[in-house]
Amino acid sequence: MDLSLRFRREMDKGLCRDTNPTAAVKMLPTFVCSTPDGTEQGEFLALDLGGCNFRVLLVKVMADGERKVEMENQIYAIPENLMRGCGSELFDHIADCLSNFMEKKGIKEKKLPLGFTFSFPCQQTKLDESVLLSWTKRFKASGVEGKDVVSLLRKAIQKRGDFDIDIVTVVNDTVGTMMTCGYDDQHCEIGLIVGTGTNACYMEQMRNLELLDGDEGRMCVNTEWGAFGDDGSLEDLRTDIDRELDAGSLNPGKQLFEKMIGEMYMGELVRLILLRMAKEQLLFQGKTTAELLTTGGFKTTDIYEKNVAEEGLASAEKVLRGLHLEPSKEDCIATQRVCQIVSTRAAHLCSATLAAVLRQIRDNKAAEKLRATIGVDGSVYKYHPEFSRRLNKMVRRLVPDCDVRFLLSQDGSGKGSAMVTAVAYRFAAQQAE
Ligand code: BGC
Ligand code: MG
Repeated sequence: MDLSLRFRREMDKGLCRDTNPTAAVKMLPTFVCSTPDGTEQGEFLALDLGGCNFRVLLVKVMADGERKVEMENQIYAIPENLMRGCGSELFDHIADCLSNFMEKKGIKEKKLPLGFTFSFPCQQTKLDESVLLSWTKRFKASGVEGKDVVSLLRKAIQKRGDFDIDIVTVVNDTVGTMMTCGYDDQHCEIGLIVGTGTNACYMEQMRNLELLDGDEGRMCVNTEWGAFGDDGSLEDLRTDIDRELDAGSLNPGKQLFEKMIGEMYMGELVRLILLRMAKEQLLFQGKTTAELLTTGGFKTTDIYEKNVAEEGLASAEKVLRGLHLEPSKEDCIATQRVCQIVSTRAAHLCSATLAAVLRQIRDNKAAEKLRATIGVDGSVYKYHPEFSRRLNKMVRRLVPDCDVRFLLSQDGSGKGSAMVTAVAYRFAAQQAE
């Protein structure tokens, strides 16, 4: 069956009360009900955890009619042993970084509102309560799944006692991206991430969100499409290589769609294919090296330039030599081809799910022709021109009746939670009036 249609059914399954408990694609309510209108203002702290870096940000939103946002941020490393160690130590480290940042900026005495961009699947009951369903990507810290991450962060901060903050919102990076782009473009109602992992959110009608009472207005839904296929529905598309990658991953059987697309996985897929071809005497005269045999030996970023014909060949050779192989010209051409296949497949899979989201929005509005802006962030989209080109092209082909605009978010995942916090503050202020 057409993949886009198949995903549309998965979305329905997640939205309906009866089928949600068994749905692979969770369609999580985010409690974000409106996009920015440009009148937001204030000073906010933000945390951004989920990709390859952890960041603390200070965001100033100016309400002088200019839609200006100023931002300072600092990247802090999260050691691998904390990503996959004891959860309370992970949160102690986050509080530690926050304290260090506030100290540096001289704002330790202020009790600022804070937005937390936490880019993992969470069950939310309100803006500031968010229970982690399962870790994904590189994280697997113990004692956090099934817990409210806001309480964990509050506890870690209280334990220190050297500063205080007001935690107002937890948002997914897709939501942050949509909100940041929405500040500049009112038509932005989709947020897309293609980075370490992949996911999308969009503005859904409350009446379609059966899990929540109320039929009026809209709410942003975090699709968590990375889990598409976790119930076996993609088995006809998955290959032996996909299964091999999954078996060796941190979360076997989970995030199967994401594992065909994310930066964390594409390079590894290429490595596994090259390795198999070498073992079958199809490449490198049947030779393998320790580097080629090592998980992570081939980086997704190594795929990027390979699509350009001539330079691509040279860079394929360089990467293969880096793995201590002695490639022939044919080996380089074959490697280039494998990279193309893996990244084209990723772009096309992503277009199919994105097209389903666009159709859903179009049907909700009963619009003949939809004009929609998609806010995008993530390293694969940003730094892999071939990927974004293919994605844009295929989406336009799949939904010709939509006028689609892709808007690269300027640091959406970081700034986004501050934007959501700013909108929440605007509403609170309006209510108090
Ligand atoms: C997470 C999502 C996130 C995406 C992109 C996935 O692994 O489950 O919540 O939005 O990665 O960062
Ligand atoms: Mg409802």
